[in-house]
Amino acid sequence: MTVPMIDLQAQYRQIKPEIDAAVAEVLASQVFIGGPNVEALEEAIAVYAGVKHAIAVASGTDALLLLLKAIGLQPGDEVITTTFSFFATAGAIANAGATPVFVDVDSATYNIDPALIEARITPKTRAIVPVHLFGQCADMDAVMEIAARHGLYVIEDNAQALGATYKGRAAGALGHAAAISFYPTKNLGGAGDGGMIVTRDNDLAAHVRLLRAHGSDAAYVHRIVGTNSRLDALQAAVLRVKLEHLDTWNERRRANADYYSAAFGSMARVVPPTEHDANHHVYHQYVIRLPRRDQAVELLRGKGIGCAVFYPLPLHSQACFAHLGYTASDCPQATRASREVLALPIYPELTREQQDQVLAVVHEHLAGA
Ligand SMILES: *Cc1c(COP(=O)(O)O)cnc(C)c1O
Repeated sequence: MTVPMIDLQAQYRQIKPEIDAAVAEVLASQVFIGGPNVEALEEAIAVYAGVKHAIAVASGTDALLLLLKAIGLQPGDEVITTTFSFFATAGAIANAGATPVFVDVDSATYNIDPALIEARITPKTRAIVPVHLFGQCADMDAVMEIAARHGLYVIEDNAQALGATYKGRAAGALGHAAAISFYPTKNLGGAGDGGMIVTRDNDLAAHVRLLRAHGSDAAYVHRIVGTNSRLDALQAAVLRVKLEHLDTWNERRRANADYYSAAFGSMARVVPPTEHDANHHVYHQYVIRLPRRDQAVELLRGKGIGCAVFYPLPLHSQACFAHLGYTASDCPQATRASREVLALPIYPELTREQQDQVLAVVHEHLAGA
């Protein structure tokens, strides 16, 4: 590939001595589960997100699931979320025993449209799960205001926006609790699966700490039924090294986004991403809209340029939720976006020459469109 969608090897080359030393230290210690690396990462993420508690778990999906279990959902309870996200957001709600209630998105930011939330609240609604999609926070003041009026929990899905801010406050510190993912391609990615729960709420923190360790806080004493959802020391060691670089990497993503957006400013039929005034966007993905999207994908891939569609089918249209009875037209903005959006390479190590190659092929597509 001339321009891959992401180049993790390029990232590893920059920090290889630090990573290799951190991994070697864990191997020398033979402490693999919990221990000083995991505790130090929890402290570092709590400071980074500006919250009191950070609890490491096995994945971002588990971070969502454990939080949803910790708020005590009962069968039949409803949890409101966006229809335009990675599947895990809705999967966690269903796996926690609740019914996901899907809300359409704002067509400019692709985040949940707060103006549509209130109409979906019922006596069974317990929580709202906004997603900070593509690296930009949802309109959290509006979400929190609605939640406060109805006594609902707000759990941020912050898998894609670690390092982003909303009105100067950190993503992950805006709701009652948040789920972070360290999947390898996320802005802060481990060498495998990993996740973190962050919260200021002492009771929620204590509850998810129990849930991640079989409901036990003393050996062989089980207060509740939990599960095994721990972070490996090897992951924590790698993530501690990478966290030191996260702000620099996020700024490079932003600079790359500026470069693309300046060029797209003169291509009339391309809609570049919108960064809302309240937000500091960290561009987990750089997502444009353009005509004949599927042909653009073919042309780009044919020329060795990575690209991706996030997401080709909104959650309310997934087969596993057919029993909930939605039709595509229930969430028209997300349905339309799913046909028009295209994510281009935006990773921090991307060069201007590579961006020029991407731009040239998009230009060629438009000339033929
Ligand atoms: C990646 C992601 C998750 C899940 O994280 P994993 O660590 O892969 O389990 C959840 N929600 C969103 C929006 C994501 O992008």
